[in-house]
Order: sequence, then structure tokens, then C-alpha cells
Amino acid sequence: MDRFETFMAGYRDLGHGARADSLADLAPECRCPECPTYNDCTEGAGERLYCLVGRSFGCVTEDLGCVCPGCAVHRELDLQYKDHCLKGPEAARRYERSLP
Ligand code: SF4
Ligand code: SF4
Repeated sequence: MDRFETFMAGYRDLGHGARADSLADLAPECRCPECPTYNDCTEGAGERLYCLVGRSFGCVTEDLGCVCPGCAVHRELDLQYKDHCLKGPEAARRYERSLP
């Protein structure tokens, strides 16, 4: 297992409150607020951590670049993808890639 798979295995075993705490711990490291694709709508909705929680709820319609590869969460979890706000979270994209 790589670091992302190890993280997700532990995350799934957490209760609801502990999952929320885990995401709250990582949120300050998310660089989305510095990204040109991040906008007033995403800021107002408090969206972060698309790589883990899923794509934007309709706020992001245009890809203006992505700073995910420079993010500590991306590095610490060995993420393979970027543009998560538009294209979906890491787990779903790895799963889709594994399909025949
Ligand atoms: S990898 Fe991208 S979506 Fe995930 S925390 Fe970092 S900047 Fe945010
Ligand atoms: S997921 Fe990537 S493209 Fe989307 S806001 Fe975060 S850094 Fe920017």
C-alpha cells in the first residue's frame, strides 16, 4: 500500500467525529485557496480538500490551473492526480482507473 491507501484504510475505520477531526487537521495545508481556479463561490462555501471529500458542488466550472502538486497533502499522501475540484477525488479516480 502507498501512503494514500494506508491513510484511507485508517480513515475508513474512524467514527464520524474522528473523520471530521482528521479533515479539520489537514484543511490548513490545502492550497486550494491560493489557486487561480478557486473562486468567490468556493470560498463562500468553505470548500477545501477536494482530493479527499470530492469535487466542487457546482462552484468550479473552468480550469484555470491547479496547485495541488505543490501542496503538502499531495506530497504527504502520495497523490497521483490533481484538478480534484473538477475531476473528482483521488479514491474515485484510482478506482475508475482500475476498472477493466
Ligand atoms: S492536493 Fe489539492 S485538493 Fe488536496 S489538499 Fe492539496 S491543494 Fe487541496
Ligand atoms: S483542486 Fe486543484 S484546481 Fe481545484 S482549486 Fe484545488 S488546487 Fe485548484
